[in-house]
Amino acid sequence: MRLLLMGPPGAGKGTQAAVIAERFAVPAISTGDIFRANVAQRTALGVSAQEYMNAGEYVPDEITNAMVADRLAAGDCDGGFLLDGYPRTPQQVAELDAILEISGVALDAVVLLEADPDELVSRLLARSREQGRADDTEAVIRRRLEVYAAETGPLAAGYAARALLATVDGLGAVDEVTERILGALTSMSAQRTATSAP
Ligand code: ADP
Repeated sequence: MRLLLMGPPGAGKGTQAAVIAERFAVPAISTGDIFRANVAQRTALGVSAQEYMNAGEYVPDEITNAMVADRLAAGDCDGGFLLDGYPRTPQQVAELDAILEISGVALDAVVLLEADPDELVSRLLARSREQGRADDTEAVIRRRLEVYAAETGPLAAGYAARALLATVDGLGAVDEVTERILGALTSMSAQRTATSAP
């Protein structure tokens, strides 16, 4: 299973990624988590990413793409993966397509988790009180939502045109949202089987 999880900051991607990846026994790969780990360890990658992250801006594509290419080359991704928070720009979409094409594999589905902006801001502010993430201040949250709407939101249409997109409502209990995602994936693969039948 090769899956992407897309959606605005605060939609619950990280929470759902962990559950869904476990269900399909594939690694959950979060670019945000990898960047944060590098920042914490003060690696060269962390040093170059930190300023962008703290401002709510995207880390430049060359840096992000190289990191993801490296991660997807690891053996644990051979049987599939769930990418959370990548791709977020057209250049990242192109890079991922190229990586998969070289390996002769394809994406199975792209899940878009949706939630209304007020809910997103209140969830992120609540998380900042609990976890104190450097980019969870109100001004940076607003900037992250803006960047998402301008740069990443429009990418969903491209995946819809490739018949890969499943849009799921991210509001509600964690379990409910998980069931919605699994349901959407099941109906997508059933549809695919039906259309590819002889
Ligand atoms: P969120 O989606 O809630 O903003 P993430 O943990 O996924 O949080 O990402 C945190 C930050 O890491 C982003 O604001 C950005 O600076 C950086 N980042 C993560 N993924 C990418 C990506 N695919 N491209 C560029 N920057 C990224």
